[in-house]
Amino acid sequence: MKEQNGFYTLKGYQKNDSADMTSAMEDYLEMICRILQQGETVKVGELSQRLHVKPSSVTKMVQQLTSCGYLHSEKYGLIYLTQKGSKVGKYLLYRHDVLFRFLCILNHSQDELEEAEKIEHFLTPATIHRLDELTKELEITRGKASAELSQKGQMNSIEKRPPP
Ligand code: ZN
Repeated sequence: MKEQNGFYTLKGYQKNDSADMTSAMEDYLEMICRILQQGETVKVGELSQRLHVKPSSVTKMVQQLTSCGYLHSEKYGLIYLTQKGSKVGKYLLYRHDVLFRFLCILNHSQDELEEAEKIEHFLTPATIHRLDELTKELEITRGKASAELSQKGQMNSIEKRPPP
C-alpha cells in the first residue's frame, strides 16, 4: 500500500498517510499538553475557550482521542494524557516551537502563530529535527550580528562625541 511515487493532490497524499491522527486531533492534543505543562488542569470548558470551538466539538474530540488511546478522563470532567498521549503531545509542542522560531527568524517577527499552526501538520519528524538545527544556527548568527551592530553603534557614538 506504500506505492507513493510521483505527484498526488494534497488529499491524495493524506489518504496514503498511515498516521492515525488528523490535523484536528493534533491541534487538541497539542493544546491539552500545553495546558498541562503550564501546571493547570484540563476540562472541556477550558479547551473550548482556548481553541475557540464549541464545547460539543470538544466533547466529541476528547472521546475520539480517548478511544485512540491518547487520553483518559476522570470524574469531575478532568482530562489526562496517557503515556502514548504524553509522548506524542510533547513532540507536537516541540514541532510547534521549532516552526514558530524558524518563521519568526525568517520574517523578523515575533508572532508567527497562525502560519505555524497552519503548516505544522505537514512536516515529517526528520524535517522538523533538521529545521531545529538550522534555526539554532540562525539564532546564533543573528544574535552575534545584532550584538556586533549594537557594539558598532556604541563605537560610533563614542567617535562622534565632541572632544573634551
Ligand atoms: Zn501548534
